[in-house]
Amino acid sequence: MAGTLYLVATPIGNLEDMTPRAVRILNEVDVIAAEDTRGSIRLLNHFDIHTPMTSYHEYNKLSKAHVLVDRLLQGENVAVITDAGTPGISDPGEDLVRMALAAGITVSPVPGACAAVNALVSSGKPTRRFCFEAFLPMERKERAEILKELKTETRTIVLYEAPHRLIRTLGELYTALGDREITLCRELTKKHETIEETTIGMALRKFEAKVSGEGAEEVSAEAPRGEYVLVIAGRDRRELQREKQEAITETMTVEEHFQNYLDQGMDRKEAMKAVARDRGISKRDVYQQLMT
Ligand code: SAM
Repeated sequence: MAGTLYLVATPIGNLEDMTPRAVRILNEVDVIAAEDTRGSIRLLNHFDIHTPMTSYHEYNKLSKAHVLVDRLLQGENVAVITDAGTPGISDPGEDLVRMALAAGITVSPVPGACAAVNALVSSGKPTRRFCFEAFLPMERKERAEILKELKTETRTIVLYEAPHRLIRTLGELYTALGDREITLCRELTKKHETIEETTIGMALRKFEAKVSGEGAEEVSAEAPRGEYVLVIAGRDRRELQREKQEAITETMTVEEHFQNYLDQGMDRKEAMKAVARDRGISKRDVYQQLMT
């Protein structure tokens, strides 16, 4: 019988966040696949866990996934852990899970800390609808495309960023999204945890002033340090709709707008309904304007 693949969350800073179930599973499995075996040894020693470890990281994840799936098929139980938090969230795990499921292996999560979720719930921003963008891609074109998409995102946006790239990213967010409200969640669960509600512009001014500012003391006091999650307010849906309506009204007559939908393959009834919706007017008004 095949073994089980466990995805075990580990603390993101505070060891007290390790769950008893995580400790038990890590003790019971045959092997722990760890992102950084040297880093994880400290965690395992702390909890007196002596299960053998093998490395499973960004650079060997595809070849290693095959090895791990073979071991699972032979009946071994495997646990995946990463440097911190939940495997598969901006960390290795996703490919292994896909491969294991395809091989008919049982995958079981062992929940715990995740920086994104804890930043979101502490941010004061709406939590009902959110999108997680992880780290923005480094590739310039893809990064620009995602920033463009985020411009009209109405859900709360959650992003990861490294401290040495924070100012650049805030600058790009400011250019793309404007001076949106943002919560900077720093060093969550650690001694210097801070949750700061501000705006992208204010955050940028604060950091830039401190980094390039006059006093050396200021520089060391405020330059971004530690781990950050950025939680950004989504656009207001009604305001967005209003702007869309204004843009359409300014650039197209009702006839052009209607024709545009007909050209896209809609019938007259559907096109009239779509024009009325886009312009925030009744179908009767659309009809009358088309008739004049
Ligand atoms: N798998 C992890 C999780 O479940 O959150 C995320 C790993 S990702 C490689 C590392 C990023 O997560 C950091 O750059 C930072 O953006 C965020 N992060 C991790 N720990 C954090 C903490 N204690 N406080 C704030 N952000 C944290």
